[in-house]
Amino acid sequence: MPAGSCSSDVGAMEINANRADFPILQREINGHPLTYLDNAATTQKPRSVIQAITRFYEQHNANVHRAVHTLSEEATALYEDARAKVARFIGAPSARCIVFTRGTTEAINLVAQSWARAHLTAGNEIVLSEMEHHSNIVPWQMVARETGAAIRYARVTPRGLLDRKHFSSLLNKNTRLVALTHTSNVLGTVNPLRDMISEAHDLGAVVLVDGAQGVPRAPVDVAALDCEFLAFSGHKMLAPTGIGVLYAKEHILASMEPVQGGGGMITRVEEAGAEWMEPPWRFEAGTPNIAGAAALATAVDYLTAIGMAEVQAWEASLTEYALAALDQAPGITVFGPRDSLIQSGVIAFNADGVHPHDAAQILDEVGVAVRGGHHCCQLLMRRLGVPAVLRASFSVYNDQGDVERLIGGLERVARVFR
Ligand code: PLP
Repeated sequence: MPAGSCSSDVGAMEINANRADFPILQREINGHPLTYLDNAATTQKPRSVIQAITRFYEQHNANVHRAVHTLSEEATALYEDARAKVARFIGAPSARCIVFTRGTTEAINLVAQSWARAHLTAGNEIVLSEMEHHSNIVPWQMVARETGAAIRYARVTPRGLLDRKHFSSLLNKNTRLVALTHTSNVLGTVNPLRDMISEAHDLGAVVLVDGAQGVPRAPVDVAALDCEFLAFSGHKMLAPTGIGVLYAKEHILASMEPVQGGGGMITRVEEAGAEWMEPPWRFEAGTPNIAGAAALATAVDYLTAIGMAEVQAWEASLTEYALAALDQAPGITVFGPRDSLIQSGVIAFNADGVHPHDAAQILDEVGVAVRGGHHCCQLLMRRLGVPAVLRASFSVYNDQGDVERLIGGLERVARVFR
């Protein structure tokens, strides 16, 4: 095992992610070592990713696609190589299927404003689920209001699973679009997407997968899933903020209109109009986040060196360990599947009688960073019957010690409030 790498007694698991690669993990918070368990919100960045940003600005900074000078060619190569690397990472057949966006939210809005606006009319239906993040609800509500399409929500069961029977009952010949999360950002529930996508396809619907939590936590292969669209964010998978991805099947991208106009997305402009470039460039008006794309490629390298199957197994072992420890802790209610086979690296819970914000504040006093709130999932909160929950979420650099510090922090919460 490499020095400083994370290991766990549970199932003799190991992961080749070195905590020392993440400079911020050396910090102390309120006199305690940082225990960072807010990875579903954003992950910390390894030194290699931070250096990729610095290296870009120190060595290669220029605009892309617009000049023949050396720096511009280097910047363009970095940007386009990043696109190709991201395509390979998710099993996309071509780099032309990859549009760089600011993140998941922008990627979903792009599909809503381009594809959905052009294809939906009154009488059509969009199927979502109650466990969707607001980013995978509000863009569809906006487009539904414009087009007259209706939205149906697949229920979540008391165990925190997507109700498959209810989902199936919502699908019909009017369903044009199904948009589902790969992994719940609150409960960690991993949805059985392959079957659900093929069920939606049987009725002629197009499927968007929100991969914001799934892509950082497990191998995701768009060819195997056969989804039309996949959206995800760099900052939740060790890369910087401000860079994200929309994957789309190539023929679908080719049929879509851009939603932003400007430089870099046209072949010709005349007084009366303009002609678009081919996808994906047609959807990237203006100067893109070049340094962010280069750093995303470095984050992909980091994760690939570990192996996404290993990331998934590691997070499953930590989830199992944390669920067992939370079960032993008095006055803790855990939400969600409570099963590491269908739960990935995210655990929602509450300390009985303590508001999640108060609990999160007390945990911060001992350096434990968790989030308390509705986590942009108000429909799910309603289904769970609570206004807010605490959430602990893992990444590659977490280990059992982090779980133990969380449990110690929760004992402190209990002491303060009882
Ligand atoms: N979808 C899910 C499941 C998420 O967890 C998040 C962020 O928390 C988003 C979408 C939105 O991602 P971003 O804010 O990076 O656009």
